[in-house]
Amino acid sequence: MEYDAVKKQLLAEKAELEARLERTHKHIYLKDEPVSANFNEQVKQTENDELVRTLEAEGLGEIVQINTALRRLEDHVYTQCSKCAGAIAEDRLRAIPYTDLCIACATKSAGA
Ligand SMILES: [Zn+2]
Repeated sequence: MEYDAVKKQLLAEKAELEARLERTHKHIYLKDEPVSANFNEQVKQTENDELVRTLEAEGLGEIVQINTALRRLEDHVYTQCSKCAGAIAEDRLRAIPYTDLCIACATKSAGA
């Protein structure tokens, strides 16, 4: 497995997520526009904010996963399942580069 390529891919994804989060963050916390006096508008805006916050939380979660994957690369345990210590299949890592579970453990933890 080409760890350098994996690392580059993870770093690129992380940079993209961070850029997206920065935009989201600005949207939430540095709003220029005044809160609308119209109630329906306010409700709509609040719903949008909640959506944006959800997106931010998801983005942060993904960054945490990518950081974990990068650490696993450095520790040379990238292809090792963190649960059963078995090998994670290469095509699984290619599909989900930040996974730390083999397919069997991932299926089990998903409750399937
Ligand atoms: Zn496993």
